[in-house]
Amino acid sequence: MEIYLDANATTPVLDAARAAALSAMAEDFGNPSSIHSTGLKARALIDRVRSQASRLLGAGNGRLLFLSGATEGIQTAVLSALRALRERRAAGDASAELLLYGATEHKAVPEALKHWNELLGLGLQVEAIPVGRDGRHDLAWLKEHAPRAGLVCTMAANNETGVISDLDGIEAALAGSTCFWLVDGVQALGKLPLRLAERRIDYAPFSGHKLYAPKGIGLLYVREGAPFTPLMAGGGQEGALRSGTENMSGIAALGAVLEALEDGKSFRDHATLATFRNRLAAALQQAFPGLVFNAPLEQTLPTTLNFSVPGLASRLLLDLFDAAELRVSGGSACSAAKAQPSYVLQAMGLPESQTASAVRLSFGPAAEEAFINEACERIRVCGDTLRENCLAPSGNQALIGDGITRFLMDGECCWLVADAGSRRCVVIDPQPALADRLAQQLRCQGYPLVAVLQTGSQDEGAQALRAAIPELLAEEGGDAWALGQQTLRRLALGDGRSVFLLDQRVAFIGRASPAELGTAVLPATLLAPACDPDNRVASTPTAALAGAAGPAPSLGPDALHALLREHPDALVIDVREPFEQRLGQAPALDPAVAIEAMPISRLLNALPAWLAMPAERPIVFFCRSGNRSQIAAQLLVRLGHERAYSLAGGLALWPQREAAADPALYV
Ligand code: PLP
Repeated sequence: MEIYLDANATTPVLDAARAAALSAMAEDFGNPSSIHSTGLKARALIDRVRSQASRLLGAGNGRLLFLSGATEGIQTAVLSALRALRERRAAGDASAELLLYGATEHKAVPEALKHWNELLGLGLQVEAIPVGRDGRHDLAWLKEHAPRAGLVCTMAANNETGVISDLDGIEAALAGSTCFWLVDGVQALGKLPLRLAERRIDYAPFSGHKLYAPKGIGLLYVREGAPFTPLMAGGGQEGALRSGTENMSGIAALGAVLEALEDGKSFRDHATLATFRNRLAAALQQAFPGLVFNAPLEQTLPTTLNFSVPGLASRLLLDLFDAAELRVSGGSACSAAKAQPSYVLQAMGLPESQTASAVRLSFGPAAEEAFINEACERIRVCGDTLRENCLAPSGNQALIGDGITRFLMDGECCWLVADAGSRRCVVIDPQPALADRLAQQLRCQGYPLVAVLQTGSQDEGAQALRAAIPELLAEEGGDAWALGQQTLRRLALGDGRSVFLLDQRVAFIGRASPAELGTAVLPATLLAPACDPDNRVASTPTAALAGAAGPAPSLGPDALHALLREHPDALVIDVREPFEQRLGQAPALDPAVAIEAMPISRLLNALPAWLAMPAERPIVFFCRSGNRSQIAAQLLVRLGHERAYSLAGGLALWPQREAAADPALYV
């Protein structure tokens, strides 16, 4: 069962909201502009939901418009305020010079400010209001700049950290300024009392899908008397303030959510939510010693936790949680190649160890106690799994490693060759950024390190690794190192460059081209590079000559079942990392089909056997999303085994999933 802890991104739709939406689609489906009875019913529904929202938000005499969501609300508010500023300027009031937004604001806000500022030809200066270490606005700075501001945008609560803004403090800082004030209320809806009309807030946008309504419905509060310019002109709906036939199913669903908020039965109160959050926080601290929370818990929404585990990349944590079916979010935007630090945490002045490894865990106010219990249990299992796989910054359990392991970071590869029989190991091309992770793995494995080798002349990585594990260093000079039955030999290429040959079976070639290796390698020797931006893993002299191969074929579930029926001897390989295999699920296949575990980081060990198999025996790779299995299948195709396939979309899209991985499934 999936434990969804990413409610700040979006929520599932509440049962009552789903029922209300269905009824608005199937039964009360009228157009509220129609004057017949079907239309009148729809009109009554809109009026009812608007009054509910107005009560809950304390909107007083302010207007509430239904629109598609917060992004549209933000555009409408910014357009309205900026057009009013242009008119003020035309009338001779040029006091507004600045458009201010909180440095941790959702990107929709600064982007809208820049967009409309340019489109309306205002040329105002768009500037971020700094925030403190606690994520709250610098009120002294704001007070100083407010007299020159035309519009100030501050969120009620932050989506990444949950930090709650001091709206009263902001209001006080704006005293005396004629600026307009936009408060992004998206993350506050249903979690904080906003009392909109009691404050001088001019505009406040909301999105239904952050609180159990479907995507595509939102609200914009506009203070009584605040300037307004429609973003959409047309049929005159919403009092001509927002044209376009209303999203009646969305409005009906939002109405059901607001009703649930008012009756107080479906949603937990603040104190209960804080208890849930504290239990999750304690489970995290226990599972990941050294964990730091990136915002003070007492000033954040009781439904959001943002944390980092120094020494653990957020990508690794996200993969770990995802494998345990705990859906959380990176506090930073992760691209495939490199994790971008979070601009929110950077604005708070947090160190890089926190900004680049943040994880956000958020739940909705309808969370049940059993759900929180299960989440805590899985967090505990995630911590145990990290230690069992030597991935935790401390407290790992011993791991017996053998063979070749690849560490890939930002397109650069480092290789670890270990021999369990003689308990010796060698590292080739360590990078400085990998030193801690390698040291962790080596300490856990406990084998003496008999050589730290480089194919090029850069030695910062080797120095950093040596400094990190003096207790394991047992370096032997010379140009050959015995690793059990195998020998690793240096082949000098000139200019201080080397390649390292493991019995002509594998060559660690650094940045050398296959042509430079001459007869030192065989046509089928596996070439392991130090630089692999395209994640090709390895090559052979023969494959290098043949050039690029296209993508390997991907199989959907039906095609896979058909292939397995036709070829019961097909190999099915799970290329996820061991920690994911332990936590995650395996595809429900015919029990007669054996699944082999071979993480992508250790593929080189299995390649010779796979390549020696009859060409017609299919090999199917799978992973979580289909990316790594495609890399593995392409590698096999490039190296000459044409019947290699990838499971399309990975386990994430696999239709029949099992409750938990069965270790017996792996051979
Ligand atoms: N503001 C905040 C604080 C948000 O969290 C989001 C969504 O993540 C938005 C604005 C934009 O909302 P939507 O994408 O629903 O328009």
